[in-house]
Amino acid sequence: MKYLLFLNHPKGEKIFKMNKTKEKRARKYFSTIKTIETIIFIRGKEYSATVDHEMFHKLANFDCFNCQDNCCGGNPSIFENHTRNFILKNYDEYNIKTKNNDILEEFGLTKDEIITSIKEDEVIVPFEFAEDEISNCSCSYKPNNSCILCSVHSIALEQQLSPKDIIDLKPLICSLWPLEILVEDDDSKVYITLPDDFTNSFTREDFYKIACINFSYSESPIFKRINPEGFDEKDYTPIYDTYKDTLIYGLGEQFYKDLIFSLK
Ligand code: SF4
Ligand code: SF4
Repeated sequence: MKYLLFLNHPKGEKIFKMNKTKEKRARKYFSTIKTIETIIFIRGKEYSATVDHEMFHKLANFDCFNCQDNCCGGNPSIFENHTRNFILKNYDEYNIKTKNNDILEEFGLTKDEIITSIKEDEVIVPFEFAEDEISNCSCSYKPNNSCILCSVHSIALEQQLSPKDIIDLKPLICSLWPLEILVEDDDSKVYITLPDDFTNSFTREDFYKIACINFSYSESPIFKRINPEGFDEKDYTPIYDTYKDTLIYGLGEQFYKDLIFSLK
């Protein structure tokens, strides 16, 4: 089994391949819970899917503008060509937000070399600068001293692109996070769930300390030490609702229809 959303990770197989222990736990988990069977489409490819539907009642609050969590802290994906082309088309705006091109010029790169890097380098900046002088994900930026946002997402919003276009533009993992999608090695089936508060011990990451998907953690003193204003309880809504556009445009209308029917 593999972690589907991590298939394009710059670190390759050591990130996307599940180890045998976790695979065993995942198979056991999906054989003991209630699931629905449906189909999903990811980047135009159809998969047969087993879905841990009851998890979609879980509450979430993606209040990224008030979040101190650095969830764009690293490059989670080799960038796809359509994202690179969007950045090139918005070269100046991307630079105003990220400062990336100015940083690279300061280190002696010409504009042509920077354009070539956006077109060809895995994480759109030369390897030696990634997550170093160009800190966090190359695409991220800080609109102020309080939060980190995605330059591609922000430029797309400024240009009033549709939710579908934005979901298609960003790396798959960024659009579909925090869904956990496991895929058989031969692509014959995917398994979809969401991280449990304490994780179900086979997810790729430890989600416990992510307040936007864990309301009880958002009330903890550990969270409030970092994020003193906290998150507002009334902003937490079930993820099938909070994430409606993402689920429809990221996984397909049939998936969403089947999911909502199963939750009634
Ligand atoms: S942790 Fe959640 S709320 Fe915070 S930036 Fe990431 S997605 Fe947004
Ligand atoms: S959302 Fe944007 S900034 Fe954040 S990790 Fe993804 S591409 Fe990078």
